[in-house]
Amino acid sequence: MMRFVFLATAVALAHPVLPAAASEADGAANHAPLDAIVDEASNRSEVMRIAQYLTDVIGARLTNSPGMRAAEDWTAGKFRQWGMENVRKEGVEFGRGWSNSSVGARMVTPRRLQLTAAPLAWTPGTGGPVTAPVVVAPLLDEQSFASYRGKLKGRIVLVSGPRQIEDAIAPAFRRWTDEELAKRGEYDLPNGGEDDGSASLVRRIVFASARDAFLKEEGALAFVSMSGRDNKLVHGQYSGFEIGKTPAVPGFELAAEDYRRLVRLANMGASPTLELESKNAYHDEDGKTYSILADIPGANPRDGYILAGAHLDSWAVGDGAADNAAGVAVVMEAARIIKALNIRPRRTIRFALWAGEEQGLFGSLHYVETYVATRTVDPAVPAGLRRYAWAKSYPVIPGRDYRTLSVYFNMDNGSGRIRGINTQGNLGVVPLFRKWLAPFEAMGASTVSARRSPATDHFFFDAVGIPAFQFIQDPLDYASTVHHTDADTYDHLKSEDLRQSAIVLASILVEAANAPDLLPRVPLPTAPRAPDGQYPYPERRANR
Ligand SMILES: [Zn+2]
Repeated sequence: MMRFVFLATAVALAHPVLPAAASEADGAANHAPLDAIVDEASNRSEVMRIAQYLTDVIGARLTNSPGMRAAEDWTAGKFRQWGMENVRKEGVEFGRGWSNSSVGARMVTPRRLQLTAAPLAWTPGTGGPVTAPVVVAPLLDEQSFASYRGKLKGRIVLVSGPRQIEDAIAPAFRRWTDEELAKRGEYDLPNGGEDDGSASLVRRIVFASARDAFLKEEGALAFVSMSGRDNKLVHGQYSGFEIGKTPAVPGFELAAEDYRRLVRLANMGASPTLELESKNAYHDEDGKTYSILADIPGANPRDGYILAGAHLDSWAVGDGAADNAAGVAVVMEAARIIKALNIRPRRTIRFALWAGEEQGLFGSLHYVETYVATRTVDPAVPAGLRRYAWAKSYPVIPGRDYRTLSVYFNMDNGSGRIRGINTQGNLGVVPLFRKWLAPFEAMGASTVSARRSPATDHFFFDAVGIPAFQFIQDPLDYASTVHHTDADTYDHLKSEDLRQSAIVLASILVEAANAPDLLPRVPLPTAPRAPDGQYPYPERRANR
């Protein structure tokens, strides 16, 4: 009976007459109609249908590839079909599209053997089968080039240093234990100038283009790198999407087991020969990549807006299921639920499906720069590397939406259920999130941690001081198996987890949209004073 009474209240709140005036303060009427959300998300869920269409039907969605274009249209169509408003595409200059239609790798001597390979994204195809002896030439830095000069002509070059196989001690599939979640509450004081990982990324990009030029100059036929994971998983991640920067030599990634065998055979003098073939295409009709935006308008636009998003693009192998059809499906499902329940929030709730996340957060940075805040990057930084210098350039210059965007919630941690939220060091939001997540204790989703989440589309919002968060999610097999691999398919998505995440996200969005005030924020970031040798701070990575 109690439950019936509560549900009846919840359903009544679902009508568009939901009080939204600022004078309502934090009254119960403004809270999310929890049981109506649970009912809609459980009994009329669309989350797996959305995920299946994005993965089985559309498949990989490499930025600017035909798959990504299809996903842009399909997701925008869904938002329109659900009655969302201002559904639009916002483009940002990216570079070349790329796709692969077939790949083959065989060892032909000393014996015939099918190998597991992925073409490296943005490398050219082979233009028919290429058969040649391999040369083991670990090209790990520019100093290593000298040792192989004059030795690569007409060869297939194995460019990685062969990493040893690792004992798979860590469980391949896991969920956070209560003890692990409890430990997440620890807070580290910010040091200023934490390593955000961008410096090593820039080194990799700059080095890849130097190595490509060296391979071309030396007359190599193709190059092969080794998978960073064991168990025959391949990724195919590479750079060179900028116009005029496309790699000149066909590139492949071989499964670690296949790569090590070739190195062993070469080292014993068995001179292995490979036959490689890739059919790759570039797509240059439109250099822009497009994020999809859609709104549920607020009752009082002067109260500002909130934002929820996930990146729609993926890498080119697998179907981009856990990364990030899962996040897209949860964000879209939360939008559908709020719309289906006719909730009229005080603030506008905007949904964003970002483009170009995997190549450096293109869509979300464009949004931040256009609407939220800008920074002046040293003009000496090359255009293609500007995004890596952006978050460390000062001052931050607030833009149009700086004072009206209350919060950004991002989903990009695979298909594991929500276990809580990381507050990015923002302590002011802790009591709010504790309150908003309290009803989800029974679903295991109530942990509030001050930690920072690894860089994804919340990063540039956070970098200008906008409250921007990722949820804590169960890891499942994300790190061990599926993240960026050919195994990232629909099979690895968990329907119970995605339904739970959609419930928690929809509820948090309604709470944030109806809250009496904008979310507490950290001060406008200014350049931190670098720690000096006399008063050293412990070194730490910003992202963990
Ligand atoms: Zn991702």
